[in-house]
Amino acid sequence: MSFERVAIIGLGLLGGSIGLAVQDYLPGVATTGYDADPATRARAHELGLAGTISETAADAVRDADLVIFCVPVGAMGAAAAEVAGSLRADALVSDVGSSKESVAKALADALPGAAIIPAHPVAGTEHSGPDAGFAALFRNRWCIITPPEGADPGKVKALSDFWTALGANVELMTAQHHDLVLAVTSHLPHLIAYTIVGTASDLEGVTQGEVIKYSAGGFRDFTRIAASDPTMWRDVFLTNKDAVLEMLQRFSEDLTALQRAIRVGDGDQLFDHFTHTRAIRRSIIELGQDDARPDFGRSDHGGTNT
Ligand code: NAP
Repeated sequence: MSFERVAIIGLGLLGGSIGLAVQDYLPGVATTGYDADPATRARAHELGLAGTISETAADAVRDADLVIFCVPVGAMGAAAAEVAGSLRADALVSDVGSSKESVAKALADALPGAAIIPAHPVAGTEHSGPDAGFAALFRNRWCIITPPEGADPGKVKALSDFWTALGANVELMTAQHHDLVLAVTSHLPHLIAYTIVGTASDLEGVTQGEVIKYSAGGFRDFTRIAASDPTMWRDVFLTNKDAVLEMLQRFSEDLTALQRAIRVGDGDQLFDHFTHTRAIRRSIIELGQDDARPDFGRSDHGGTNT
């Protein structure tokens, strides 16, 4: 099976990018879009983020055989409740939320009996809103699909094919495993960035503007991550609490070990550790998941993984 009509609920960075990508890479597939914010709906119409922009979520999903929720994780349940009773009996419901166990539960609670297969395209930028979307966002990025137990294999394949058509590489795993992996690869780095930028900002009075002036010394890369959408990230930490706290505990232990190495002057330990982490960076580049150019090819337009 393949999809003929895709409804996108939430027309920000992710929803807008899906709308544009479907129109570019799956031109035979019809798209409808809805966003709770009338200004976003008007802008989505101007930008052509979907073939039709509907005035209600119910109207957007009525004829769709694939419905994708692209709202903040904490809003998934409420957004899904708005379409209960309007879904086609054979519709597949999915989403793009950055945490998976809580979203799977929120969607299942709001839409009992619906076919639900959550997903997370690990692709994004620090920008949000309808103007941030672009069709190539998913190209050569991973999309993790987390089919619940007993999911229809035909629907899992159709969803995998959909994301492949948008340029993504697809991986299947359980929602629980997803949340653990993403806690360390995405959620913890964001927490660290939010913390270090906050600490530096608190020190700004002492350093008299030098934090900004000398930001190229590493700080600037944290500020990009720390500029990510506050609503989205508040919801991620609240919904993936256990896995994030577990990873934070491990991180604190490792940080304490490095702190000790600095205090006792153990240069070998520091050197070995930094050599190991440099090798990780190289393998990410070899896998095509980042840019080897100096300064990450910063002047070019490109997505990042979140
Ligand atoms: P975004 O740009 O802020 O877009 C979300 C849109 O959903 C906003 O326009 C928001 O409107 C709207 N919305 C909120 N509640 C709604 C509701 N009940 N019904 C309809 N629309 C509603 O956020 P995003 O970056 O696209 O993120 C969307 C989802 O993708 C999140 O679950 C996030 O975890 C996931 N994700 C994000 C990234 C990333 O890098 N940004 C990457 C992968 C996955 P208001 O602004 O008026 O609230």
